[in-house]
Amino acid sequence: MSSLSETMIIGLTGGIASGKSTVVEMIKEAGYKVIDADQLVHDMQAKGGRLYRALLDWLGEEILLPNGELNRSKLGQLIFPNEEMRHRSAEIQGTIIREELATQRDCLAKKEDVFFMDIPLLIENGYQDWFDQIWLVAVLPEIQCQRLMKRNHLSSKEASMRIASQMSLEEKKPYASLVLDNNASLDDLKEKVKSAINDLPSSS
Ligand code: ATP
Repeated sequence: MSSLSETMIIGLTGGIASGKSTVVEMIKEAGYKVIDADQLVHDMQAKGGRLYRALLDWLGEEILLPNGELNRSKLGQLIFPNEEMRHRSAEIQGTIIREELATQRDCLAKKEDVFFMDIPLLIENGYQDWFDQIWLVAVLPEIQCQRLMKRNHLSSKEASMRIASQMSLEEKKPYASLVLDNNASLDDLKEKVKSAINDLPSSS
């Protein structure tokens, strides 16, 4: 049994379509547990979840579909064009997400000696202090754009705009303890992940 201070917690991050989920699968195959921030947000935005209730309290029933689920396109139209709304949304949801991530982290720290947390906006949202190491999945913008276009069926312009709206890889690099270069094949990435894992204490 370990505690937060005895456990090694590694944060995994990287830009859109950089390969975080792909790395997560490799890490899980090696026997490590991974907390997935996107999944947690998704679960809490489902009907009755903490984020769902907070958004409903804030914006009212107009953000719901007839079946009671969140109307994501309506939410997007209400929040994204307006800076004040974006700020408020980040404030309301960010606090809840941080609390839930901390709860999951503390729970896992009681059972595991080493585990990972996949947080896409780890650096942007200031989670650096939580981690013993930060692994950054790095991909060149041209390759990132190609993979994003293919995965999300986007035009080159749409994919480039999404990439450009994010903090750049170069700005993130100074925070990383390890940079996983994902510009080559999946086999190449697997080798890099294996070697990074080899340098860790074994999973419990
Ligand atoms: P997001 O944060 O947007 O969810 P992500 O960082 O989790 O994305 P992935 O979904 O793992 O990224 O990868 C993006 C796409 O690129 C996927 O379709 C994945 O299969 C593909 N991909 C990842 N790494 C490689 C690689 N080395 N070679 C070829 N395709 C890859």
